[in-house]
Amino acid sequence: MIRLLVVFFVLVIALPLNAEENKDFVDISELDGSLMLDIRYATSRNFTGKVMYPVARCLLRRDAALRLIRVEQKLRTQGYRLIIFDGYRPLSVQKKFWNILPDERYVADPAKGSRHNRGAAVDVSLGDLAGNPLAMPSDYDDFSEKAHRDYAGASLEAKKNCALLEAAMSEEGFDPFPTEWWHFDAPGWERYPVSDFSLEEFKGVNAEVSPKGND
Ligand SMILES: [Zn+2]
Repeated sequence: MIRLLVVFFVLVIALPLNAEENKDFVDISELDGSLMLDIRYATSRNFTGKVMYPVARCLLRRDAALRLIRVEQKLRTQGYRLIIFDGYRPLSVQKKFWNILPDERYVADPAKGSRHNRGAAVDVSLGDLAGNPLAMPSDYDDFSEKAHRDYAGASLEAKKNCALLEAAMSEEGFDPFPTEWWHFDAPGWERYPVSDFSLEEFKGVNAEVSPKGND
């Protein structure tokens, strides 16, 4: 009997805590199934050279996701699309990154947590309407000066595309990261806690939320 009671209380306490941790998150593809995802950490095409995510999903805080969808909508009217490389990243994955590359210039120290761990940062690039990636100053995860926003050596086309992406993201409140042209912080990132629920286990049915009128 006592054992049953213990199990009952553990369930009552544990379930809401788990739900609490990710209740503000959404799977952005559930809000807009037409978004173009190229989740690099679900492939080996990233700085680790290994598959780090078991699924190719982009989870984000709801506010950040709605903003990103508005960026996409505006870009499409100009003949462009977003290519999404990364959103929420579990803290446990951040620790693996840190073990591979313990250098704060390129990887956030998991002791502090990355803004990706808060579901409040995105890595994005630009494509044309057909989905072809456009020229950018460097490849994703290029941890060299080529990725810096003030890198002068990029082609004119890459500079133009980079500036276009930055302008579109800034218009929706995203803050560009100076040393990675693909990285943007969502406004208010500091108010979200670091999370560590797994990408594959997240269940969120949020498709009823309209991206419009939720500023
Ligand atoms: Zn990033």
